[in-house]
Amino acid sequence: RALNFNAGPAALPLEVLQQAQEQFVDYHSAGMSIMEMSHRSAAFEQVNNETQALLRKLYGIPDSYYVLFLQGGASTQFSMVPMNLLQAGKPAAYVMTGSWASKALKEAKLIGETTIAASSESDKYNRIPDLSSIVVPENASYLHITSNETIEGTQFADYPNVPDNVPLVADMSSDILSRAVDINKFGLIYAGAQKNLGPSGVTIVIVRKDLVSDSLKHVPTMLRYDTHAATDSLYNTPPSFSVYMVNLTLKWIESKGGVEALEQYNRDKTKLIYDAIDLSGGFYRGFAQEGSRSAMNITFRLQTEELEKQFAKESEQQGFVGLKGHRSVGGLRASTYNAVPHENCKTLAEFMQDFQRRNG
Ligand code: PLP
Repeated sequence: RALNFNAGPAALPLEVLQQAQEQFVDYHSAGMSIMEMSHRSAAFEQVNNETQALLRKLYGIPDSYYVLFLQGGASTQFSMVPMNLLQAGKPAAYVMTGSWASKALKEAKLIGETTIAASSESDKYNRIPDLSSIVVPENASYLHITSNETIEGTQFADYPNVPDNVPLVADMSSDILSRAVDINKFGLIYAGAQKNLGPSGVTIVIVRKDLVSDSLKHVPTMLRYDTHAATDSLYNTPPSFSVYMVNLTLKWIESKGGVEALEQYNRDKTKLIYDAIDLSGGFYRGFAQEGSRSAMNITFRLQTEELEKQFAKESEQQGFVGLKGHRSVGGLRASTYNAVPHENCKTLAEFMQDFQRRNG
């Protein structure tokens, strides 16, 4: 298997792929694949319901929240959130942490009034703004954060407090189910599945029920949360195969001891790579400031772009995939989502040390 450090779509657990392979042509002796079945069949409804129940159990989602499986990626949520929650005369507040927060704000501006609650743009988004610097208007429709900036490699260590009646909305596309979270802090959480939860094609939305009852009435049917909440995400044809893959991935997470166990596993494996950076005497330089470092996307630079290119090329020759940084930030990036094995991180840390020995 490739040493896959892709940012997304990303590595899936081998066990999940093998199980899907076993069931691919003939799902539980049905004589057909799950992807050939009606989404109204008992078999698919069972998958849909079980996936929702597993997510609720593993992430500790209370009954006062809906769990929705939507399409259109997290990018569609950049619009759906303001379309459903941004009310006239009540600005939507955004914490500007990097590339994805900027995209989310851009869409909200098309819908209504917005305000910037805090920003680290002057530091090239190499840190999460201090929580104490976040200013949320009392009448804000919501506060939006990007819990993990996939491109810059920064992550909120703690979440901001919000005034009463201001829901906290989080784009958790690149760190959902990688660590324990108190769901009660949030009004709405959304995430594309393709990093920690399965393949692309399905987007998870966890939303407090009282927020959905207020879906604004002019919003098109498919873009309203209440449409999908009222139909268990089966209003129209769902991304059934992707939901099935999320189901298998959640069972894998459960078999690993759940989210808390994965959080520790992720911390241990990323430490290997951060140590390779920190103990390199400046040969490697981490992009993110220390207190803002991501456990999912490790961004780092070398002294010259030439050396970075050489690192990327040699890493590919050794079987590593996806280590070139995003074109907007440059440098290198190792994405270490849930399914990336500890031993692959160890192999990468050793490669980094060896590369330094040869080029330092
Ligand atoms: N938000 C974050 C934090 C992301 O990392 C990504 C994709 O990489 C997106 C949003 C966009 O997701 P999608 O491609 O599902 O629209």
